[in-house]
Amino acid sequence: MNKSTIVAVATPPGKGGVGIVRLSGDKACNIGETLTQTSLKPRYATFTPFINPEDNSLLDEGIALYFKGPNSFTGEDVVELQGHGGPVILDLLVKACIAQGAELAKPGEFSERAFLNDKIDLTQAEAIADLIDSASEQAAKNAIQSLQGTFSKTINQLVKDVTALRVFIEAAIDFPEEEIDFITESNVLGQVTDLHKQVTAILQEAKQGQLLQEGANLVITGKPNAGKSSLLNALAGQDIAIVTAVAGTTRDSLRENLIIEGIPVHITDTAGLRESNDIVEREGIKRAEKALKTADAVLLVIDSNDPEAEGYFPENTLLQDKPLIRVFNKIDESGLSVHQIQEQHHTDIYLSAKTLEGLTELRQLIAENVGKQQQSSRFSARRRHIDALERAKVSLNHGLHQLKAFGAAELLAEDLKDCQQHLSSITGQFSADDLLGEIFSSFCIGK
Ligand code: GDP
Repeated sequence: MNKSTIVAVATPPGKGGVGIVRLSGDKACNIGETLTQTSLKPRYATFTPFINPEDNSLLDEGIALYFKGPNSFTGEDVVELQGHGGPVILDLLVKACIAQGAELAKPGEFSERAFLNDKIDLTQAEAIADLIDSASEQAAKNAIQSLQGTFSKTINQLVKDVTALRVFIEAAIDFPEEEIDFITESNVLGQVTDLHKQVTAILQEAKQGQLLQEGANLVITGKPNAGKSSLLNALAGQDIAIVTAVAGTTRDSLRENLIIEGIPVHITDTAGLRESNDIVEREGIKRAEKALKTADAVLLVIDSNDPEAEGYFPENTLLQDKPLIRVFNKIDESGLSVHQIQEQHHTDIYLSAKTLEGLTELRQLIAENVGKQQQSSRFSARRRHIDALERAKVSLNHGLHQLKAFGAAELLAEDLKDCQQHLSSITGQFSADDLLGEIFSSFCIGK
C-alpha cells in the first residue's frame, strides 16, 4: 500500500547506552545492507560497522537486525540499526539512510503502517501510545492488555452479536406475514436488552480504563490561608509527585499533576474565585473558570478554626454540580480528630495538612469522587472509545423503544446497524481518514 521507505530514531532523544534507527518499507533491507556492507539475514543479529556510503567513512558500529515483511511490526521489511545512543551519531545514521532513498517518518507512522497492514487494529495502536505514556503501574498493565487485544476481542464479540441479531431481524422482515411470530418467539426484546446490558458493562469498564490512562481533573478552592497550598504540598509529598506528560498542558503555578491511588490527577488551584478589580487576579479567575468547566471533582478547603466554617459552600455556580469534598483543615489547632461525614451531595473530611493526619483518607476520598471503582478495568481506553460506546448505547436504547412502543422491527434493525457502526469505529473498521490522522499524529516520532 505504501511504497515509500521510512526512517526515524526509535529511541528517546538524548544520550543513552544504545540508540536505535528504524527503517520500514521496500528499500529497508537494501539501505541496511548498503550502510553495513554486509548481507543481512532475516531475524539474525549482525555485529557490523555502519558506513556512510557517500564517502565510505565510518559512522558507528553496532547491531543490525532485519525483519522480513510480513513478519515484522509494520508488516513491511524492517531494519533496525542499533548503535551508540548519542543524538549526533543517530542523526548521521538517519541522514545516511535518507541519502539512500528513505524518507523521514511522520509521528506514529510505523504504528499507522502496522494498522494499515492489518498487523494491529486501532485500539491496539492506541494502546502502544498509551503504554508509552502510562503514568502509573496500573495504567501500564491495562495498556499492555489492550495491546494484547483484550479490548478489541470484547468489542469484536459485541459487534458479532449485534450483527447476528440485525441479520436475523432483517430476514424476518422479508417474510412480513411471519414477522410478529419471529420477533416474539425468538425473544428479540430479551436479546436487545442483553446487548444493552453488555454495552453498559463495557462502558463502565472502559471509563475506569480511561480514568487510569487520561486521569481526572480536580479543582482546589477555598479562602486565602485556609491551607490550599499546604494541602497540595502534602498530597504531592506523600505521593512522590510524578509529573505526568499530558499533551497540551503547560506547567504553570496553577496546575499540579499527581498520582493519587494510581490515578493521574491534574489539580488546579483556583485561589481567587472572588470578584476582583485587580487585573492579574481577574486573569486568574478567567483561567480558573476554564478549569472548572472540565473539573471532575472539587476540593473546598476550609480552616476548621473558623467559626463560620460549617456554612461554607463554593460560591461559583460552575462548582455546584460537581462531586464536592469539603476539607476542614488544621485539626491540629482546632483539636478535632480525623473523621469523615458523608452527606447527601458532598463529603466532609477533617484533617491536618501540617501533621498529615487524615491525608491517606483524603486520597481515597479523592479517588472515589473522581470515579474510581473497586472493580478494576482489564484494558486501557480513551475518550474516543467512551464516546463510541455511549453512541452505541443510545442506538440500542432507541431501538428498544421502537420495539416496545411500536413493535417496529425494521426501525430496530436500523438502530442495530448504527450501533454496529459505532462499535466498529473503536477497532478502526469504519474509521474516517481524518480520525486516523488525528490519532497517529499524537504519537512520538519513531513509533
Ligand atoms: P492558602 O492561602 O489556602 O494556600 O494557605 P497556605 O497553605 O498558604 O496556608 C496558610 C497558613 O496556614 C500557613 O501559615 C500554613 O503554614 C498554615 N497551615 C496550613 N495548613 C495547616 C494545618 O493543617 N495546621 C496548621 N496548624 N497550620 C496550617
